[in-house]
Amino acid sequence: MTRSRTVGRYAPSEIEKKWRERWAADGLYRAPDDDPRPKFYYLTMLPYTSGDLHIGHWYAMAPSDVQARYWRMRGYNVLFPMGFDAFGLPAENAAIKQNIHPYKWTMDNVARMREQLKSMGAIFDWEREIISSDPDYYRWTQWWFLQFYKHGLAYRGQAPANWCPSCQTVLANEQVLPSGQCERCGTPVTKRDLEQWFFRITKYADELLDHSKIQWPERIATMQKNWIGRSEGVEIAFGLDAPGVEEKELRVFTTRPDTIHGVTFMVLAPEHPLVEKLTAADKRAEVEAYVEAARRQSEIERLSTEKEKTGVFIGAYCKNLLNGEDVPIFIADYALLWYGTGIVMGVPAHDQRDFDFATKYGLPIKTVIAPPGYQGEPLEAAYLEPGTMVNSGPFDGTPSEEGKTAVAEYIEKQGWGKRTVGYRLRDWLISRQRYWGAPIPIVYCERCGIVPVPEDKLPVLLPEDAEFRPTGESPLRLHQGFVNTTCPQCQGPARRETDTMDTFMCSNWYFMRYIDPRNSERPFSRGLARKWLPVDQYTGGAEHAVMHLLYARFFTKAARDMGVVEFDEPFLRLFNQGTIIAGKAKMSKSRGNVVAPDEYVARLGADAVRVYLMFIGPWEQGGEWDDSGLAGVSRWLNRVWNLVLSPVETASLPDAPATRELRRLMHKTIRRVTEDTERFRFNTMVAALMEYTNGLTRAKEAGSVDAGAWRDAIDTLLLLVAPSAPHLAEELWARTNHGYSIHNQSWPEWDEELAREEEITLVVQVNGKLRDRLQVPAGVTEEQAKELALASARVRTHTDGKQMLRVIYVPGRLVNVVVR
Ligand SMILES: [Zn+2]
Ligand SMILES: [Zn+2]
Repeated sequence: MTRSRTVGRYAPSEIEKKWRERWAADGLYRAPDDDPRPKFYYLTMLPYTSGDLHIGHWYAMAPSDVQARYWRMRGYNVLFPMGFDAFGLPAENAAIKQNIHPYKWTMDNVARMREQLKSMGAIFDWEREIISSDPDYYRWTQWWFLQFYKHGLAYRGQAPANWCPSCQTVLANEQVLPSGQCERCGTPVTKRDLEQWFFRITKYADELLDHSKIQWPERIATMQKNWIGRSEGVEIAFGLDAPGVEEKELRVFTTRPDTIHGVTFMVLAPEHPLVEKLTAADKRAEVEAYVEAARRQSEIERLSTEKEKTGVFIGAYCKNLLNGEDVPIFIADYALLWYGTGIVMGVPAHDQRDFDFATKYGLPIKTVIAPPGYQGEPLEAAYLEPGTMVNSGPFDGTPSEEGKTAVAEYIEKQGWGKRTVGYRLRDWLISRQRYWGAPIPIVYCERCGIVPVPEDKLPVLLPEDAEFRPTGESPLRLHQGFVNTTCPQCQGPARRETDTMDTFMCSNWYFMRYIDPRNSERPFSRGLARKWLPVDQYTGGAEHAVMHLLYARFFTKAARDMGVVEFDEPFLRLFNQGTIIAGKAKMSKSRGNVVAPDEYVARLGADAVRVYLMFIGPWEQGGEWDDSGLAGVSRWLNRVWNLVLSPVETASLPDAPATRELRRLMHKTIRRVTEDTERFRFNTMVAALMEYTNGLTRAKEAGSVDAGAWRDAIDTLLLLVAPSAPHLAEELWARTNHGYSIHNQSWPEWDEELAREEEITLVVQVNGKLRDRLQVPAGVTEEQAKELALASARVRTHTDGKQMLRVIYVPGRLVNVVVR
């Protein structure tokens, strides 16, 4: 039979829109709550409403959609929702710059981005869309705040905050670049003391270190572990006896109790409250000037390893209880009040920073851990390795690793301190002095103090008519109608909290809202939570490692302890895609190398852009955008089109070798595409599809093909292409007389037996004597055959240690190795 149909031209602009409208009208990709199929919650990070959808969004979302579609064809009820992260500084900054209201700016962007997202042809369930700046959403963000407050996980505290003088706002540590600049605008960050709201993430530090219940990339787990920074050590008191000072000790945390005998100075953070009390009269002016200077520096600057360490002796001493020595007290900006106790002991012999400091200020350097061969000579640099304790009284001669425990036990016995665990992680500062965020649902009453807004009074609406330009104060503070309220407890006059919440609060729980987005009684129903949560597969950028991905884990664990959810981890599996670059550089507006997907979609179709992005390189590594690469992919889709629709000469040849070969190619390809798709190896998955197309083209050109095998081969091609190029596959499925829709078909299965290469037996000789027989693929090359023969253990016992003269290959039959 010969198909005689006009092939027509592959015109993506004509077919893509048509199918998208049909899919939407039919609700084809809806994930019903009452579906009997097993659930699969697939989630890609929701976009920030920053303007146009750029190629980075496509790069994160299109391959995610391919995998979500794959699981759908594998019989799962796949939930793949989409929404918008809509609160936050960029909206406000852009709005200020363009002089339009953040609400309008944001909603305009949402409308545009929604259409752009739809052009991707993804299976997003738009009925579940959420917008985090929508009162129906942030009402529940506020509800969550109240739960944290109720459970003692939200508290108000005074804290030196990272302050960006340009953005006029407090920044989280994560928003300060390593250079000490504001992540958003590049201005050097300074410090400011403010009364703000914190979330007690430190309470979960230990549990957050445990990634054993989730399959995440190792590097993300490592980044989180480093960020949390757990260290075991000892908190020990140093005696204080200063006239007129109430405090009788300084408490210090150290991970090196074995070196306490080597303390020769003590450093207080310049902001430490004891500095003022302890400073001697003749040091006061110098100390005050130093404190002032330190306050102007960012934390990153203060901790920088390159920066020369400075300090000032405050004219006071404390006592090392272990050896009775008096220790001079300094202030230095590298000691931070909010790290540990804000006091650091100086052990110059065994810490390089302390060594430099002691050298600079002429302080003694006392070796207490002897390096191998130590004869009492002065150290050239700090000795950091283990050794033997010396100059340490009763501990002399103890190996330092044992000494850690021995000294710690001694200190505990004496009542001078205790073993404890220190963390680098600090509580999460969630207050923002900006307008475009969810208001914190708290009221301050002169009589009752801090009063939470009752849950049935939520949402606390963000007033639309606020003056939102940054002044250094919360814009809402200037809005009398918002600020002045009545106390929910005593009905007296009260003031509202005027800070808004960090937008990471919104993204902490958005994946929970998708499962029940229109619920007006609760953030989501328990039954639906049990059905859908947690997320099975999450995809997104690694840049969120210590922010969103850590906060969401904390949030989930806290929600579990509140009894709101019944699982421990929000995202069971995580995959981080790489970055798309252009012209060897990261895309940015200033470089002018931003790739706008819309133009390419209009010209070559969404399918071509989708497939090209997967083909560009290993997904986790990213790759370089190249127009000619995209054109190549577009040509391949054209070849698929022509291959499927152009006439083919068929006959009944079920047992012909060519038919067997065709079937083998098909089963091999199904196996490769399946395995690659599951393992996020999208580039090799596309390559397998291209090779398959080439193989089918060759078979077709070689003469008549078996009708049944050809039909199976073409159907399989379309099914395998369907997740990657959903529009093209749907069109070709319809044109090859199949019913609607290909996207409701099952994923094809391969037969291991049929996929197996035909094999031949290769005889291997050494000096003409039979030494081994190898089963090798029929298509083995000379090079492969020789390599396999020489690698055989049985052959190697006769060749090892001998001189190889030559290797003779008789194609398809024999390898003879000649040795002497
Ligand atoms: Zn800034
Ligand atoms: Zn009151």
